[in-house]
Amino acid sequence: MLLSKLFVPITKDLPSEAKIKSHQLMLQTGMIRQSSAGIYSWLPLGYKVMKKIENIVREEQNNIGAQEMLMPTIQSADIWKESGRYDDYGEEMLRISDRQKREMLYGPTNEEQITEIFRSSVKSYKLLPQIFYHIQWKFRDELRPRFGVMRCREFYMKDAYSFDLNESGATLTYNKMFYAYLKTFQRLGLKSIPMKAETGPIGGDLSHEFIILAETGESKIYADKKVFDISIDRYKDEKASLEKMKNDFSKYYAVTDDKYKSTEFDKNVKKENQIETKGIEVGHIFYFGDKYSKSMNCSVDTKEGKKIFVKMGSYGIGVSRLVAAIIEAKYKDNKMKWPKSVSPYDVVIIPSINKNDSTNLTKAKKLYEELKKNSLDVLLDDIDENISNKFKKHDLLGIPFQIIIGSKSSKDLFEFKEVNFESKMLDLNQIIKQIKN
Ligand code: ATP
Ligand code: MG
Repeated sequence: MLLSKLFVPITKDLPSEAKIKSHQLMLQTGMIRQSSAGIYSWLPLGYKVMKKIENIVREEQNNIGAQEMLMPTIQSADIWKESGRYDDYGEEMLRISDRQKREMLYGPTNEEQITEIFRSSVKSYKLLPQIFYHIQWKFRDELRPRFGVMRCREFYMKDAYSFDLNESGATLTYNKMFYAYLKTFQRLGLKSIPMKAETGPIGGDLSHEFIILAETGESKIYADKKVFDISIDRYKDEKASLEKMKNDFSKYYAVTDDKYKSTEFDKNVKKENQIETKGIEVGHIFYFGDKYSKSMNCSVDTKEGKKIFVKMGSYGIGVSRLVAAIIEAKYKDNKMKWPKSVSPYDVVIIPSINKNDSTNLTKAKKLYEELKKNSLDVLLDDIDENISNKFKKHDLLGIPFQIIIGSKSSKDLFEFKEVNFESKMLDLNQIIKQIKN
């Protein structure tokens, strides 16, 4: 892509309404544009990053056998009345009525909808277990939308729902999801920590929030330093290994403020290992047994011919929030650096352009074609602008690799730079190797 043709409305001024770095950067680089409070349009650059995140989320859901589907954004109030949540949900739910005066709503989540689908067609234990997911817009009329897409009203979420015959089956499903989440965040270049969360009246220990560390996070967290050293690469997607994984994480204290008790923290974690900091919730998994299946009469026949209510769980990932969360986690020394897996482009070529001499630009265009032939997604900064301004702009854009074509480059050697590292002189093949590695 040529930068001159790309719609990235970069602004030099810091947007005054933005209080945190990710919000500033997303507005400044034209990734998003506010439409009304807490509602955003995703412009090409931002949308490209979000789609890459979405794909990684999707692949890891598919890897554990979850099946993708798509439920609507607008739901009928009837199913929410059945579950009893229509009144409970309160003002966060956007309620609307259609021309026949039927009560509808913009879905804040989909437990009712999926339970209705499931109960209408599954009657036998033989079809269990099942995991479904969709990636769809949600609306929650948050009291204080803030921090850009981090806490907004309309947001993009992956939500999965599981159906099992009994609690031991449901625990296995839960553990698979736990594993899929850790893998997903790892592929996004993030270190996520599962933290025990409130389970409400259901009790048990099957609710975790996945938190990534960031000074600007809204959740206060308290953790044993050792929990950060657990590597997920030692576990496999297989029953015993998954159970061990969850137990290994459970060994260490790691909670958000709603579960925090200072006496427990001091009792369980040595002073020198205590970490008190802030984080961003990027995912939440939850087992709730027959909460919805009972109220909505969703049952299956067992082998013995008994009717039982299916055991359900739900599992969310904030796909649009993740775009901002990655920025918060990665921004350093006034520079942005996207993880390779979600970067809008693999590499950017930055020629120093001189009105009277087109050598650098010609060279850059040739290199651009070569890199494209090698299946790299390349951005060429072909804009006639002072080189130091260009560098400032690319510090904001955060494409992880830069090729600078100026006085240092010779016939076959180009100045290659990975953000936050020293530059070096490489030829075409070496460059391709570096980027693909
Ligand atoms: P929070 O505690 O942040 O309000 P929640 O517990 O209401 O979140 P869930 O219902 O568990 O959220 O939703 C799953 C995921 O969706 C969250 O982990 C988060 O990443 C994302 N999410 C929730 N609310 C918002 C929002 N208002 N804006 C953007 N993303 C959100
Ligand atoms: Mg939550």
